[in-house]
Amino acid sequence: MSSRIETGACFCGSIAAELHGEPFWICYDHDDECRRAIGGPLNVWVGYRPEQFHLTRGSPKSFSKTRGIVRTFCGDCGTSIGYIDKGLSDELYLAIGFLDNPDRFQPQAHAYWRMKLPWGEFRRRSASRGSLFPGARPGFRRPDGSLGPDRANS
Ligand SMILES: [Zn+2]
Repeated sequence: MSSRIETGACFCGSIAAELHGEPFWICYDHDDECRRAIGGPLNVWVGYRPEQFHLTRGSPKSFSKTRGIVRTFCGDCGTSIGYIDKGLSDELYLAIGFLDNPDRFQPQAHAYWRMKLPWGEFRRRSASRGSLFPGARPGFRRPDGSLGPDRANS
């Protein structure tokens, strides 16, 4: 495994973490649920394996509205930390705003492109998760909350 170590923290500093090794997936997300949960027009999620995530300070609070999706955040300042999908137990997605060096995480594709806000100045990339990571498991839910195929280019 790579010796890369990245760090992250919430806005107030109560929660901090280290990420060991390389993320396996980085993606823009135009999903309307994440938009509301995060509070921005879109988000970038950085995917790690759960064992790569090491809390170094504090304890995130969690919240679940969509079946199987658990979002974590700082209970003091509200910073979004990440989410897990209970159907994908080996994947943990961190909000790029939680990371101390977000410039190092170039997104590879767009998820939920059809939900993109009309004024978003993005161009679709041709790469899909499957082509970048052969064998990668599908990572996105359908609007009804069920697990779906890779929708990065749908
Ligand atoms: Zn905080």
